Amino acid sequence: MNPCRLPLLLVLASCSALSARRESAFFDVRAEDDRLAVAVESALRGLPARAAPARPVPIEARWSDTACSDGLTSSAGVRLSVDPHAGPDRLRFLVAHELAHYDLPPRARRLLPGVVQEGLADLAALRAVPALRDERLETYRLATLAVEPARLAEVVRLDGPSAAKLCADEYLAYTAAGVELAERVERAGPATLERLMARAEAEGLALVPLAWFD
Ligand SMILES: [Zn+2]
Repeated sequence: MNPCRLPLLLVLASCSALSARRESAFFDVRAEDDRLAVAVESALRGLPARAAPARPVPIEARWSDTACSDGLTSSAGVRLSVDPHAGPDRLRFLVAHELAHYDLPPRARRLLPGVVQEGLADLAALRAVPALRDERLETYRLATLAVEPARLAEVVRLDGPSAAKLCADEYLAYTAAGVELAERVERAGPATLERLMARAEAEGLALVPLAWFD
């Protein structure tokens, strides 16, 4: 989600008790305290309607001890590290981004390049929280300008876990490149991702080549 992965991992490692809980047919939020549980629930309810999942999405939320919010998503659920000073829009953006990762089918998580997955998640969040769109895109634009083109060409080839270790500008540039690719996929039509994944499988490739998104 953003360049604060390491603090998130440290926070998660500390594994504070998740005593507060909010549940619905859509989510099962466990949080460090009631204030956080309510904030996450409110962020979830502020998102565009989504299809009811087979089971409520497990979401664990802890307060971050840095000025960054971050998320980590796997098929097991969503883990959030929330900046106590983040406003509702930023929390909603984070939740929308991580839910988009969660909603990506396992096959797409396996076959799509990390930068494309990051772009798809971020595009969903930009749409879910339009109030942040201009500010975010400007941040991405400036970060991209700060990265040497040759370095950027290397960065976009990284998978998600490797990209998470990048410095701030490089990670934002990675996200920016991903958003551009996700928009390109969208313009190419709804069947595009399926077509690219099927072609990669037919050719025995472990990953859809990035060049196929050009
Ligand atoms: Zn992400």
